[in-house]
Amino acid sequence: SGARVRRAQNKRLPQYLERGVDVKFTDVAGLGKIRLELEEIVKFFTHGEMYRRRGVKIPGGILLCGPPGVGKTLLAKAVAGEAGVNFFSISASQFVEIYVGVGASRVRALYQEARENAPSVVFIDELDAVGRERGLIKGSGGQERDATLNQLLVCLDGFEGRGEVITIASTNRPDILDPALVRPGRFDRKIYIPKPGLIGRVEILKVHARKKPMAPDVDYTAVASMTDGMVGAELANIIEVAAIYMMRDGRTEITTDDLLQAAQIEERGMLDRKERGPETWKQVAVNEASMAVVAVNFPDLKNIEFLTISPRAGRELGYVRMKMDHMKFKEGMLSRQSLLDHITVQLAPRAADELWYGKDQLSTIWAETADNARSAARTLVLGGLSEKHYGLNNFWTEDKINDIDTEALRILDICYERAKTILGQNRELMDALVDNLVEKKSLTKQEFFNLVELHGSVQPMPPSI
Ligand code: ADP
Repeated sequence: SGARVRRAQNKRLPQYLERGVDVKFTDVAGLGKIRLELEEIVKFFTHGEMYRRRGVKIPGGILLCGPPGVGKTLLAKAVAGEAGVNFFSISASQFVEIYVGVGASRVRALYQEARENAPSVVFIDELDAVGRERGLIKGSGGQERDATLNQLLVCLDGFEGRGEVITIASTNRPDILDPALVRPGRFDRKIYIPKPGLIGRVEILKVHARKKPMAPDVDYTAVASMTDGMVGAELANIIEVAAIYMMRDGRTEITTDDLLQAAQIEERGMLDRKERGPETWKQVAVNEASMAVVAVNFPDLKNIEFLTISPRAGRELGYVRMKMDHMKFKEGMLSRQSLLDHITVQLAPRAADELWYGKDQLSTIWAETADNARSAARTLVLGGLSEKHYGLNNFWTEDKINDIDTEALRILDICYERAKTILGQNRELMDALVDNLVEKKSLTKQEFFNLVELHGSVQPMPPSI
């Protein structure tokens, strides 16, 4: 009825919720005994009453420690998937890097949503970005971050019904966390996730091979043997890249050879990241510049504040800092247009990689931003902001989930083309930015806009989906 529809429209949409998390422990390979510890966390949800009755304290927070790409996020999702509870996630670097001044309110909103939709898992990625010991960073950036951290501490303490909302955070630097965070009742349980060994790597490769057309005689051990030191994310990439080789050659099965070739590419990427040669600096510059060049065309994202290709703690590439319209963000009032613009910016690195290096030379440098784009596209569709109004009820069928994916893909395609068009029109600006970035490593707001003035062809493009 009309009234019901209105109510649904008035209700603010959960921003951080990922619905229908269907990740299970079987999707995470090579865990060994760690799996038992995680199964216990699932029991906090499924047998919470039993724990409480026997006076066993349920931890407020669990810290997953380990290098990037070992599957910490995946594990947190698997806990939610196995327990059948809602999954809320946010990256702590988002608190402090992109949306200056709204960190604390985002933390509050996140926990409020998690509580309203309990039982739930709240996942905070890169906790160290906000959880670094207070007072270590001087200046206003530090104060902003301290306010965010204080708010997080308040939220961690603020639960009566422990076990209804459990926070899982990931970090590669448990050693630098503020001591207040790891006090009893807060993140009082640490689980270390190491890089996988040989057998772990075989298992991870096989998990990712499940959904791909593999040749029956693929030699996983051969691939695992030459990928010493690699983590799950890199192994997953190898399978993806191998699939591209198969497609390129018009074959229908992925062979050991495809995998070995892909592993070599991944290995080169790994070496480059440790010690960047001139080509790699340039590649990162293309990646970062592309986001800025596209963003500057969009009303909500055009306030580029800073651009860098220097690697920072916990992040492999550089970053572009954009200042968003704070009020809109606080109120959860991002328009369809801002979301589409955001998706377009996040797809820019992929489009730039294709334009600058060609389809055959694609790297995986844009994997993370493409991921952001995918999740934003789903948010858009689920929020009822696309032509199809899925946001208005919660009744899920197989068909509907497929429809949502199709619609999200359609939006991604359109945004990708927009990104490509804008980059194509701004080759001169891109070249200037890349040269300057490679030389200076960072550009200030003023330097960036000077180059835009000189070389840019900025023409706001209205979205049409
Ligand atoms: P982290 O959070 O530790 O940085 P992620 O969970 O984001 O790592 O891992 C990124 C991707 O890499 C996952 O989505 C998955 O595809 C793959 N991956 C990483 N570790 C594993 C693993 N142990 N088993 C299977 N896949 C993995």
